[in-house]
Amino acid sequence: MPTSRPVIAVAGLGIESSTFSPARTQAPAFHAQRGADVLTRYPFLAPGRPLREAADWRGALVGKALPGGTVTAAAYAELTGELLTRLAQMGPIDGLWYDIHGAMTVEGLDDAEAELLNRIRDVIGAGTVVSTSMDLHGNVSRDLVHRTDLITCYRMAPHEDAMETKERAARNLVDHLAGGAPRPVKAWIPVPVLLAGEQTSTRIEPARSVYAAVAEVEAEAGVTDAAIWVGYAWADEPRNRAAVVVTGLSADAVTTGAERLARGFWKARHDFGFVAPTGTLEECLDAALASGRRPYFVSDTGDNPTAGGAGDVTWGLQQVLARPEFADPSGPTVIYASVPGPAAVDATVHAGVGATVTVTAGAEVDDRHAGPLTLTGVVHAVRHGDLHAQTEAVLRVGSVYVILTRLRKPYHHEHDFTDLELQPRDADVVLVKIGYLEPELFAMAADWKMALTPGGVDQDLPRLGHRRIRRPMFPFDREMSDPDLGARVIPSSDEELTGPDE
Ligand SMILES: [Zn+2]
Repeated sequence: MPTSRPVIAVAGLGIESSTFSPARTQAPAFHAQRGADVLTRYPFLAPGRPLREAADWRGALVGKALPGGTVTAAAYAELTGELLTRLAQMGPIDGLWYDIHGAMTVEGLDDAEAELLNRIRDVIGAGTVVSTSMDLHGNVSRDLVHRTDLITCYRMAPHEDAMETKERAARNLVDHLAGGAPRPVKAWIPVPVLLAGEQTSTRIEPARSVYAAVAEVEAEAGVTDAAIWVGYAWADEPRNRAAVVVTGLSADAVTTGAERLARGFWKARHDFGFVAPTGTLEECLDAALASGRRPYFVSDTGDNPTAGGAGDVTWGLQQVLARPEFADPSGPTVIYASVPGPAAVDATVHAGVGATVTVTAGAEVDDRHAGPLTLTGVVHAVRHGDLHAQTEAVLRVGSVYVILTRLRKPYHHEHDFTDLELQPRDADVVLVKIGYLEPELFAMAADWKMALTPGGVDQDLPRLGHRRIRRPMFPFDREMSDPDLGARVIPSSDEELTGPDE
């Protein structure tokens, strides 16, 4: 084994956490991996792969949680304490790949990922080259850019390029260390726009074209990487907004490229629209019932657990069960995914398939919109051993198949339903707590509407009441004048950051 291979550590915590949800996230939710186990997360770092062999990779601690509520101060202290201890025990390293999401909120702390990187820098020193990979729904503060040397994010929403992005961040770091070049120039531009992911999907315009320019900028001579962040709309910190960063060895190329991308995003701001037709839940159900297209999907968006909702809001299911069309088993077949209720699941499992039970579920975390829901139905299926849900149970109430879970779970795949003896392709209406449909569901849906329902990730942003984001901000200040979209060249981590943050 050649001794000249650089030593690269891998570390990071990832979660998207809503400050508008009463839920709190604890340390076990991160399913932290440590040491060599960290490397198993990444197929491109499997033994024998070129990138794996190009460096001496050392896992410190990487933890990724389902989106949720604010991370408790104790959980953050526990996880970051261990992460830093493990880095300190490694001794000198040449590089660090910082694998984060970028929308983690922590009790009593702003800009958590920059704060953690500051503390990491205290351990690894200013001389270590850091490459950061993020979700495009993360936030990029000036501090974060200052402490890192390379930084990038996904270019697709839904994130079909997640692993490709991580690989790019890792490869850029290896290439940089091998090349012996000076630190990259970093051009950062905050863009005062804060929009939901459901309005900025790259499947449709204008985001499709806005993001298409990223690859063109990256292809310019002197540019290493280019990235646009939409930012995270369901947290209320000064850092929450869109941003552009372009890195590379040519100051001219990175500033020109960053300004092109920032202008493109800003110019498109009035054109961003929801990725599917929207309406109240009642309107969406009316449309589904009137339509002949099957299956008809309806997103119950306000409590989407994969954007940070508590996942246990009962408001949507209450509306569904109140519809007279679904009161009789011979009515239109409806699938509702899902409501957590540990006691309800236990009672359902105990009763067994075919039994009739009355259980109460939901609203243990978020009861601001509706209380716990009591329902009587026939047990259709039970399933044990799911990574997220632990145990799932399906209760048929009238013509509605209600999925109950021990713990909240996202329903993104066809097998999530078929594993429960449900056939979404044969259903009339499938309601999912989700925003935009993930690829398998999108492909399956004959038609689809997004219901603007209440919850911790309400799509009606102004009604949430942000107080700490910077203003003016589009669309909160719809008629604001054009901002300064000139590139800010951010000094490298071993130089001082001067001037006011903006
Ligand atoms: Zn995302």
